[in-house]
Amino acid sequence: MSKPLPMTALLIAAASLLSACKPAEQPQGAEQSESTDRSEPVELSQSREVNLYSARQESLIKPLLDRFTAETGVKVNLVTGRADALLQRLQSEGDNSPADLLLTVDAGRLHRAVEAGVTQPFDSATLSDVIPASYREPEGHWYGLSFRARPIMYAKDRVQPGELSTYQNLADQNWHNRICIRSSGNIYNQSLVASKLAADGEAVTEAWARGLVQNFARPPAGGDRDQIKAVAAGECDIAVANSYYLAGMLRSDDPEQVTAAQQVAVFWPNQNGRGTHVNVSGIALTRSAKNRDNAIKLVEFLVSPESQAWYAEKNGEYPIRENIPVSDILASWGTFKADAINLSELGKNNAAAVKLMDRAGWQ
Ligand code: FE
Repeated sequence: MSKPLPMTALLIAAASLLSACKPAEQPQGAEQSESTDRSEPVELSQSREVNLYSARQESLIKPLLDRFTAETGVKVNLVTGRADALLQRLQSEGDNSPADLLLTVDAGRLHRAVEAGVTQPFDSATLSDVIPASYREPEGHWYGLSFRARPIMYAKDRVQPGELSTYQNLADQNWHNRICIRSSGNIYNQSLVASKLAADGEAVTEAWARGLVQNFARPPAGGDRDQIKAVAAGECDIAVANSYYLAGMLRSDDPEQVTAAQQVAVFWPNQNGRGTHVNVSGIALTRSAKNRDNAIKLVEFLVSPESQAWYAEKNGEYPIRENIPVSDILASWGTFKADAINLSELGKNNAAAVKLMDRAGWQ
């Protein structure tokens, strides 16, 4: 096994690679000129392109795509949009969809795409080798590109880490009126509950959800950052939120966000049990993919060591690939045991999780 490179070395390498990108050479056949022989197969032009539908902001992925184009001559056409809208678009476009790849976040959403029939499985020795089995769909319908954790975040001045232990413990009366967490309509919470369903079964999970709701400091409102801000503002003492939001706040240009984030600390729950709940950003080959080979080549490029270092750092996430150092902020939270469940199970439990949260009164 190769020795991990220091984070700074990798980032410098990734940055110099990115900055060294020449303007992409016009790939052969990328444009149909008037003199194009009509008998030329259309695939020739398509074979120099990949069409990517992405639920991530352009700035969080585009430099990598440019780098891929510079290296391979394959142009990447990027369409960004909201995750649910992109899935709907894929469904309505059907086999006529120009999309080759769908990039989105949360295994629950990736599962919805599989269920909707807009993906197709593919094999890649590179991907199977690099991506741990729990972070990819067993048949190859999707592959994780980065992972994130959903730990407990607590007010440093009001909670001792020794008071915390498991997600289960959040239903304890000790936390009455002290917890902030976003609504049950959010996929991150649905996946958290889906993971608990897989681990503990329905009866235990439902009783837990009821207890947790009893401990809410306020009706769920806002996103994960808002829960962290509410802890900092003293509205609640603990929040459950995705790790990259806290990382993003800590390195924000907005001093208010930095100050709020500095008042909370990360606690890794379930370290003596199944591990902390984690999830992924991931990518799927669409059923309609017409540029299959280059699409797969792009996915493999996205898990190269340089891509992984850049992508995880940029997104405040954990690299999916082992032996890539995490960012300084993530490193400061220490290492943790992650739940090893195959994340495709979260998607399978999603519908049951949503119903259970509803029964428990989780708004
Ligand atoms: Fe998010």
